[in-house]
Amino acid sequence: MLENYEMIIGLEVHCELATKTKIFCACPTKFGAQPNTQVCPVCLGLPGALPVLNEEVVKSAVKAGVATNCKIARFSKQDRKNYFYPDLPKAYQISQYDMPLCYDGHLVIETEKGATKIGETLIHIEEDAGKLIHDKEKAALLDFNRCGVPLIEVVSKPDIRSSEEAVAYLKKLRAILQYCGLSDCKMNEGSFRCDVNLSVRKMGEQNLGVRTELKNLNSFQFISKAIEHEFKRQVADIENGEIIVQETRGYDKKCGKTFSMRKKEDIKDYRYFQDPELVPIIVSDEFIEGIEKEIPVLPDERKKSCISKYAITAYEAELITSNKEIADYFEEAVKFTSKTKILANLIIGEVFKMIDREDDKVKIESFVLGEIAQLSGEGYINSSVCKKLVAAFWGESVKSSVKKYVDENDLAQVSDKELLTKYTIDVFKNMPKLVEDFKNGKSNAKKAIIGQVMAKTNGNGNPIVINDIVTKMLELQ
Ligand code: ZN
Ligand code: MN
Repeated sequence: MLENYEMIIGLEVHCELATKTKIFCACPTKFGAQPNTQVCPVCLGLPGALPVLNEEVVKSAVKAGVATNCKIARFSKQDRKNYFYPDLPKAYQISQYDMPLCYDGHLVIETEKGATKIGETLIHIEEDAGKLIHDKEKAALLDFNRCGVPLIEVVSKPDIRSSEEAVAYLKKLRAILQYCGLSDCKMNEGSFRCDVNLSVRKMGEQNLGVRTELKNLNSFQFISKAIEHEFKRQVADIENGEIIVQETRGYDKKCGKTFSMRKKEDIKDYRYFQDPELVPIIVSDEFIEGIEKEIPVLPDERKKSCISKYAITAYEAELITSNKEIADYFEEAVKFTSKTKILANLIIGEVFKMIDREDDKVKIESFVLGEIAQLSGEGYINSSVCKKLVAAFWGESVKSSVKKYVDENDLAQVSDKELLTKYTIDVFKNMPKLVEDFKNGKSNAKKAIIGQVMAKTNGNGNPIVINDIVTKMLELQ
């Protein structure tokens, strides 16, 4: 049933810019200060206070636009988006409505299936709202420090067709913004937030279905799970003859399901109009040229150079360069090994697993990981020992060499054919049931025999040699 449908996804990303001061006043933007200590009459929306646009915000947004292949509007304006909510003291948000600063951009993403181009409709600037804190006594407390922190809103075209593509797009966008130094993009601190617009339609159909908006998703894992669930839900509802309603939905992490939050406001409910207190934004060619000169090496360029320098695949390079720190780390570690592909896969497999929270740091020294890759590539240790070593050296400061540690702890790979044959004979002798099972066509029996031989080497056996010996001996049975 699911295979008869496709999902259509468009993403809206809100990203807090790392400017020192807010978008319309001189208050600092630093995260984590005592509540309501970084406020003034402008960002509190007190009557009579006038906003003045921070030029750094325009520079940053234009930089984001140039780095994502956008056209830059020479003339744009700022509008009031009117709605009432306690975290918004003015009862309107200053945003941009029909004349965004950047438009018509695109990103190229890479998944295991290859490269895809995802269109980007626009980037506009706006102010963030405050924060509501719900305390235990069921009271809501207000922290206005975040009011007026500058945001860019990046809106993609509905070109995304899977949760993998959605995550790849977000990682690419985050990488570009981080490489440009525009934002720290921390999902857990809310400086990089994503809303997912999702609809489904039968394969081959041209018209778009009714979409729902998924909100408050604060990790890539939840984004991916929420998309998968919402897709299944919409398909099931349609198959049951129900109608999809346009609404905002949340995601319940505990039961893995999306749930209805509220009916989505229509665009007309916001009664947008141009802010009469702010002049239009006029951007000159010289201004844009100046910013173009400041654009650093971007992820795609770095990816290309990694592919050619280190002989890794496009997908591996995409993952490595999706985080500037990881890319720098990889190029540091690569100095200590000629086994570049093994190193890349150690990072993608083991290091990424250790950094389970997305904003965590790498806690294994680059020369250590480089040496692990080298020992693995030379066949001195097997791949399961590689994993053990990454875990063992994580967060440790290392004085001696990895090889010394391997020798002292008896972790070197056992490839001795005679010894491994002897172990295999023992297993055949002591566990005749496994051999019997194999003869009766149980394919798992062979795996179990290999596992038993491997156990006799304390997990250090050479899996290829063991497999050869076991295969040959089973043929003789
Ligand atoms: Zn202020
Ligand atoms: Mn917005």
